[in-house]
Amino acid sequence: MEPTPIAAEAERATRILTAGVARVLPPPPATRIMTVSNHKGGVGKTTTAVNVAVALALQGSRVVLVDLDPQGNASTALAVPHHSGVPSIYEVLVDGLPMADAAVQVAAAPLLTCVPASIDLAGAEIELVSVVARESRLQRALTAYLAGLSAAGRRADYVLIDCPPSLGLLTLNALVAADEVFLPIQCEYYALEGLEQLGKTIERVRIHLNADLHISTILLTMYDARTRLADQVAAEVRRFFGDKVLDSVIPRSVRVSEAPGFGQSVITYDPGSRGALAYFEAARDLALRGADRPAAHEGQR
Ligand code: ADP
Ligand code: MG
Repeated sequence: MEPTPIAAEAERATRILTAGVARVLPPPPATRIMTVSNHKGGVGKTTTAVNVAVALALQGSRVVLVDLDPQGNASTALAVPHHSGVPSIYEVLVDGLPMADAAVQVAAAPLLTCVPASIDLAGAEIELVSVVARESRLQRALTAYLAGLSAAGRRADYVLIDCPPSLGLLTLNALVAADEVFLPIQCEYYALEGLEQLGKTIERVRIHLNADLHISTILLTMYDARTRLADQVAAEVRRFFGDKVLDSVIPRSVRVSEAPGFGQSVITYDPGSRGALAYFEAARDLALRGADRPAAHEGQR
């Protein structure tokens, strides 16, 4: 009998795990809440959020991915239904739906849960304006959800929030909910341009709303080894941000860009590809760097 697509995906994930590519990663001392932000579009935020989430989950970490972009690209890449009307992050933010009621387990990675985004979220930027505590809706919902998971003995190791390409109210909610900013930078011209604006926003959020927020992790994406420019950009980013930059660099690769069209991460789509291995390494690096950091929120979350 032909396996169902979900069974085939699960089988594929199991093969990756047992092939020895993945070893179990040490859990962080407390849940790490990371917002994948860069207000430029097309720098690899969604690709990074999806592939790092899957890579962490297939290496034994419990991960929650919150899709906060009305385009719902992360939901698509994880084959999580997100048409208008499906319980999604929109209802969580605007109607106060418990996040647990919108969270869906991802078939390809059993330890990964996704809170999808539907197109309804496009209206949230405006609808939230008149809502009480509009910039901390996500934080409240997430805190309650994480407490529920912990109480059930299923503490999340990582929360990754995939942001839209703007500095509007949705991104602000992500910056208030997170402790860490995970910044993907594309190895292209103007890579650092405009980051000043993000830096200022982070500073303002830190002063007024979330004292813990900081840029913790940077990942170089879409690196093209054939160009000198990519090397120059990578060197400049490393000079500027120092050891916040992960060692692993994500190559520009057709396999990476094809995968979402099949409702997959590149890790399940083509596990042996350079893109998949680079994301595996990036996830590993991220986990190992954070394994011994002090638990800022132990007891609270
Ligand atoms: P963002 O979320 O920042 O807007 P995406 O992750 O959606 O960016 O990436 C923008 C486009 O670039 C998408 O079409 C995606 O498939 C493609 N892409 C992302 N990373 C890579 C890569 N490493 N190699 C090739 N294409 C990539
Ligand atoms: Mg995106």
